[in-house]
Amino acid sequence: MLLIHCPYCEEERPELEFRHAGEAHVPRPAGDAALSDADVAQRLYYRENVRGLVFERWRHFSGCARFFNAVRHSVTDKFVTTYKIGEPRPEITEDMAKSAGFDANVRPAVMGDPAHTPVARTEAQQ
Ligand SMILES: [Zn+2]
Repeated sequence: MLLIHCPYCEEERPELEFRHAGEAHVPRPAGDAALSDADVAQRLYYRENVRGLVFERWRHFSGCARFFNAVRHSVTDKFVTTYKIGEPRPEITEDMAKSAGFDANVRPAVMGDPAHTPVARTEAQQ
């Protein structure tokens, strides 16, 4: 069973106690009233969907019930780190990337990394 570290309880707990709550660090633009419908849709519904390290919001639903952020590998499902709401987004070190366990020789894509180029969809995926 996957264990997830709650940064508030400061212990590893079974994944069944947690709920995924979407992408973390989604910027909220100032002046919502001036945004077009397409801009609002982009902010609310479109995500990077990186095949690699993602920054997510989770909730310790059956524990302390608090929200926190996590860095998780979207392929291996391995949690690299968790941190409290309000703490800055951690820099991904080479060791953190390798600990995700997908392929130690290839640094995984990191969500929000300007060097990340989304993978084009193949015909089979469309
Ligand atoms: Zn907790």
